[in-house]
Amino acid sequence: MAIADHHPRNRIAVLGSTGSIGTSCLDVIAAHSDRLELAGITAHDRWMSLAEQSHRFRPRWAVVSNADHRPSVQTPQFSQGTELQFGAEAVERLAAHADVDTVVCGIVGAAGLRGAWAAIETGKRVAIANKETLVVAGPLVMQLASKTGAEMIPVDSEHSAIYQCLQAGRRADVKRIILTASGGPFRGWSKERLESEVTVERALAHPTWQMGPKITVDSATMMNKALEIIEARWLFGLEADQISVVVHPQSIVHSMVEFVDGSVVAQLSPPDMKLPIQYALTYPDRWSGVSPRMDWTQSSHLDFLVPDLDAFPALQLGFEVARRGGASGAVLNAANEVAVDRFLHGSLKFTDIPRACREILNAHNDDPSPTLSELLRQDAWAREEMRRWTR
Ligand code: MG
Repeated sequence: MAIADHHPRNRIAVLGSTGSIGTSCLDVIAAHSDRLELAGITAHDRWMSLAEQSHRFRPRWAVVSNADHRPSVQTPQFSQGTELQFGAEAVERLAAHADVDTVVCGIVGAAGLRGAWAAIETGKRVAIANKETLVVAGPLVMQLASKTGAEMIPVDSEHSAIYQCLQAGRRADVKRIILTASGGPFRGWSKERLESEVTVERALAHPTWQMGPKITVDSATMMNKALEIIEARWLFGLEADQISVVVHPQSIVHSMVEFVDGSVVAQLSPPDMKLPIQYALTYPDRWSGVSPRMDWTQSSHLDFLVPDLDAFPALQLGFEVARRGGASGAVLNAANEVAVDRFLHGSLKFTDIPRACREILNAHNDDPSPTLSELLRQDAWAREEMRRWTR
């Protein structure tokens, strides 16, 4: 990347700038304003927060991707130097713009795929926080990236950890990777207890990470880890049986790589998303950061536990989809998105989330190498199935 050759600062577009990843990313950019420049920001609904961000950073573009807000948005509330645009196409135009060097994909869900695709198509550095891009369309996305030379740098803490650990050896010498999982708020709960005692409030109380509601519920079901298994399978070009999961309640070891000689390399840091975000922006360099540091003056211990696949069957779905490939990732992801929404609105039981996903996955029409439009069709089909799902 010749960022510094033509422009003194790395010009960054943050897709989903008002979300959890987006706001952390803006903190990183603010801390390094001599070397990083916020060129564009996008939000789907929260245009008031977007307007505030435009005053704080004065980016060249701001996009409200939900065009329905156009009549109510007050243009004067945005910074004067910022050009305001509307609609999903405007997000794609921003991601593909020649005056943008790096695109941070922080939009949650399958909705984030289009912006990521536009950035990859134009060969940019892509800081990928949207795991659905790889879960839904992993093989197509990685093929496209190798064609255009786009650099795919993960922001998900586990995948950033693996990316960092991989710097310790040759890719051909990797035996397997070990994804760590906090286990979420229901770690140690039995299948029976999960059936009867889970409430929305309890599912939203994550012990170590502060995140949006969708990913917090995914952590509680461990579907988040399932999606991360699939994400890792495509991002790192691994076979499903080269991926293991271990429960690690402290969320200090963010993941590990085991090499053929038996050496295991781990990445540790206090749980804070600013570190993996910054690493994705500065790689291969490391800059003095804004993230908290390990305190080695306090005694501490790290636990590693075997995951309970019986209580958390979502995990099994992750391994299965990583093995099957095809459209199964798109189907699982879409079914889960609707299931989580239904759970949050009280129309689906917690333990029915993986149960319904399993049934819809079993019923889908398998296609070994689907096109992007076929994947989107399967995505729509799975959503419809999940809306109708009753026990
Ligand atoms: Mg993660």
